[in-house]
Amino acid sequence: MKDKLSSKVLEAWFSPAVLLMSRLTYVSKFAVATALFAVPLILVVINETVEHFHKIEQLERKFVAVERLTDIQQVSRHIGAIRNNRVRTLLHPKSLVESDSEKHKVAILEALAVLEERPSIARNNLVKLAISNLAMAVVSGRDSAGTEGDSIYSVFDVGNGVVIQAHRLGMLVVAEAGLMNDDDVLSLNIASFLMSDLQAPLENFGKIESFGAYFLEKGYLDSQSILVFSSISKQLDASYLVMSQNLSSIFERFEEANRSKVINISLLEEIPQLLIFSEDAIVIDPELGMAESEYRIGCQNALTNVHEFQDQLIESLLSRYQARISSLKIDQWQRALSIGVLVFGAIYLFMGIFYSVEHSLLQLISAAERVSNGDLDTKVEIETRDELYQLSRVFEKMRIQLKARDQALFDLAITDGLTGLFNRKYFNDCINLSLKNASRSNSDLTLIIIDIDFFKNLNDTYGHQVGDKCLIEMGGILTTVLERETDLAFRYGGEEFAVILPNMSSKNCIGMVRKIWQAIREFEVVVGVEALSFTASLGVASSDLIGSYDVFSLIQAADKALYAAKDNGRDCYVVAENTIDVLTERDK
Ligand code: GH3
Ligand code: MG
Ligand code: MG
Repeated sequence: MKDKLSSKVLEAWFSPAVLLMSRLTYVSKFAVATALFAVPLILVVINETVEHFHKIEQLERKFVAVERLTDIQQVSRHIGAIRNNRVRTLLHPKSLVESDSEKHKVAILEALAVLEERPSIARNNLVKLAISNLAMAVVSGRDSAGTEGDSIYSVFDVGNGVVIQAHRLGMLVVAEAGLMNDDDVLSLNIASFLMSDLQAPLENFGKIESFGAYFLEKGYLDSQSILVFSSISKQLDASYLVMSQNLSSIFERFEEANRSKVINISLLEEIPQLLIFSEDAIVIDPELGMAESEYRIGCQNALTNVHEFQDQLIESLLSRYQARISSLKIDQWQRALSIGVLVFGAIYLFMGIFYSVEHSLLQLISAAERVSNGDLDTKVEIETRDELYQLSRVFEKMRIQLKARDQALFDLAITDGLTGLFNRKYFNDCINLSLKNASRSNSDLTLIIIDIDFFKNLNDTYGHQVGDKCLIEMGGILTTVLERETDLAFRYGGEEFAVILPNMSSKNCIGMVRKIWQAIREFEVVVGVEALSFTASLGVASSDLIGSYDVFSLIQAADKALYAAKDNGRDCYVVAENTIDVLTERDK
């Protein structure tokens, strides 16, 4: 009850849609269904694909930015070298460091020119401006700023300003590619480590090297210098602490980075080593008497190691981006493949549904058309096993019932109600058809008309019911006597019967004629205690004797023969236009 109610509510709710759909052909219904599902699906797939492409494109941009970063790192190292050379020039005015600076300058300008030509940078005015400013700063840098002790600071600061400018350029490139807002935390951490954590110690490295060399060369360290130096050491120490913490957090969180053989963490340990080395040499025990060149080489080695570490980080970042890009690309192929398989499968199944429905419907339509045209013989068959198949089963049942009813009606129409033999109407059809067939196959056909003798008397003596019984028995007699399926017996009218014998000539028919004649006269009808028998006269006409397949002529000939038999005293048979056989048992 509840179910019925809810299904009614549902029906009412969907009735506008049902109304709309019921007006469409199945082809249109399928088209609408396809559009309803396919259009949003295609939009989602397109959107997903575009987003995927976009993601790959973004990663590729980041990859390029890291590559640019490598170039910028090289530039800033050259600038750092020039800066340090300037300090050395102050210490050793006659040294070869100036030409060394020239070499670095040329390398920087070349690297900047290459960088500027990169298509991604050529389009970005801000980066271009930063590059040209940096180039100008490199060119206009002073190599010497006097010989005063304090000027070491200003020389260093000026040179360091350019290093910072190079760093800013790196920041700009990184920001432009969105490297600092990457959704991959490991890449983000490495990038931020590169851009911020490593910068302060690198600057302090320069300071330690320049100032330490200066102090060693000059051989004294006043109280202010000690303060400056210890402040640098503290900064470097603090930076090292921050770096080790950040690094260990990166390595702890990312097993993958931890397994990486590309990054050699021990390289960073150069920083505390350098601190011990410089503190011992300069602050704690200036009397150690370390040569300036020895000190500088120590600093340079430590710096080289930190640079090496920096390169390894960049390398690992690059390989990480490379891996992400390739995995996204593989993913893209897999997606394309799975979407392709899915779409193909969906279309394939959908077409299967469509054709199965269409095919079944067409089969049902043509079956209905056949039935409406009166063809009840062809089976209704469809290959599916769905609801349409059930419909076809019902339809087939209907066809069988219709056919049975049709057959029953036909039988009724051609059967004589009393005797069960074929009736006169059917006789007319059959005699026509049989003669046509005989004519076509050039075969013979015999017609026998049988009339019960003195039937009126029989009726009058025994009553009509007995007469009817005799007529019924006549039906039985004829059916029993006729052996061939093609031999047909009819009630011709009243107490007259007809027999059609196809493929039977006048010569051959005599046996059958006699058989009928005798069967009738030998038959006894039990009426009460009495056994009643009757006789019949037979008029026989064969197509071969009358020399025609004409219906009228054949019936007329048989009729005439019957009259002749009656005239001959009844209870005999006469073959038209030939012999008159009057032999009867009675006569004998
Ligand atoms: P004949 O030997 O010359 O054929 O004589 P007959 O009496 O058989 O011929 P007639 O034509 O004079 O009479 C035929 C009778 O058959 C008349 C009719 O009452 C009877 N008859 C016709 N149809 C039926 C029927 O369906 N039932 C019965 N009981 N009698 C019928
Ligand atoms: Mg008669
Ligand atoms: Mg009669």
